[in-house]
Amino acid sequence: MDPSQDRPIDRLAATAALAAPAALAFAVLAAFDAVDWPWAALGALAATLGVAAVLRRQAAGRSRGDGVGGSATSPAGAAARAAALETLFDALPDALLLLGPDETIRRANAAARAIFGDTPVGMPLVAFMRDPGTLDAVTEALAGRAPEAVDAVIAGAVERALRVRAVPLPPDGVLLALTDVTAVRRAERMRRDFVANVSHELRTPLAALSGFIETLQGPAKDDAPARARFLGIMAQQSARMTRIVTDLLSLSKIEESEHTPPADRVDAARLVQTTIDALAPQARVKSATIRADIADGLPPVLGDADQLAQVAQNLIDNAIKYGRAGGTVTVRLARAVTLPAGFVARHGAYLALEVRDEGEGIAREHLPRLTERFYRVDAGRSRDMGGTGLGLAIVKHIVNRHRAALDVDSEPGKGTVFAVYLPVAE
Ligand code: ADP
Repeated sequence: MDPSQDRPIDRLAATAALAAPAALAFAVLAAFDAVDWPWAALGALAATLGVAAVLRRQAAGRSRGDGVGGSATSPAGAAARAAALETLFDALPDALLLLGPDETIRRANAAARAIFGDTPVGMPLVAFMRDPGTLDAVTEALAGRAPEAVDAVIAGAVERALRVRAVPLPPDGVLLALTDVTAVRRAERMRRDFVANVSHELRTPLAALSGFIETLQGPAKDDAPARARFLGIMAQQSARMTRIVTDLLSLSKIEESEHTPPADRVDAARLVQTTIDALAPQARVKSATIRADIADGLPPVLGDADQLAQVAQNLIDNAIKYGRAGGTVTVRLARAVTLPAGFVARHGAYLALEVRDEGEGIAREHLPRLTERFYRVDAGRSRDMGGTGLGLAIVKHIVNRHRAALDVDSEPGKGTVFAVYLPVAE
């Protein structure tokens, strides 16, 4: 039983309790002969009836809902409740549209106005959404049925993917709830593309391997020179698969740590010099010269030494691979004087690591995509040189983790400069 409900027995007790002092007062007055007994009895009776009447009126008021406290159905209460609902409606992250029986928009919350602009109210829904699945769902919901959620795409400056639910809203309306799933769909597509790319990258060397195995088992079984040649190619192909898998693993490890910036103090000057020394044999193969231009007395940077070595190694390695045979690769490390446009600096000072080559350069349209996984300007050339197409993706993720910046500048025919800006450890 609802404890707030008013029971007659309770009201009787309350009446007795409240009327008792008045009745007692009359009794005292009569005892001291201030009033006559009949008048005192009459006074006590009047007080009791008065209290009972007040209590009954209050009880009736409570059951109508407009008691002393002032609640929902008083004009002020109703306005407060409407304002609270409006705030709630606007605060919900999904875009919500309230539709009338003629499918015009009666209300749109803040998220819906962000998608459809400020003036959807009063307009027919079809002016904003022509998607047949959505319109069918609205018709269904207006007929009182509960249709399944549908997917819709709305065009505009940015195309949005929406998950749409139409809910009947008695007596004659529909609530259309639109969840923005653009980011989810994009992530799904990226994952699919990535899996397709990895499979494609591994399929080529795998196909080569199984082809040569078959040949060695059959036609070339007793052909010693052919066997030696094929085994050489097979070794190359399996090394290639190993490189792809190693790069993929290192990429996923870096991604995992991307949200925790490294905190070690790293001597970047020494690290860069060590990397240059390690790449000397590669440079010799291309008759290239690596020129180190490392400023004296540089402060340490904030970083992860292994990862920073990988950045230097990938950039210098690319400069050798894609640079001019017999040319010079210049590796410069100095205090940064300027930072790339649009980079939000979170540290007071940066060192700039610049790797410059004299190669063919990269056409402008490729620059924004270079750090995508498996993106290559010239796939054949990259493969011939043992490239995996993952080197710059690894560089980008390490740079992100270090809250550092990466910049590329290239002039076709002249060469390319990759620059990394590393935060100085304060
Ligand atoms: P890859 O393993 O193919 O070298 P990267 O991710 O290191 O992969 O580089 C991606 C692509 O960017 C390369 O295939 C190449 O086309 C281009 N690229 C990278 N560095 C240079 C450079 N220094 N000069 C010209 N092109 C470059």
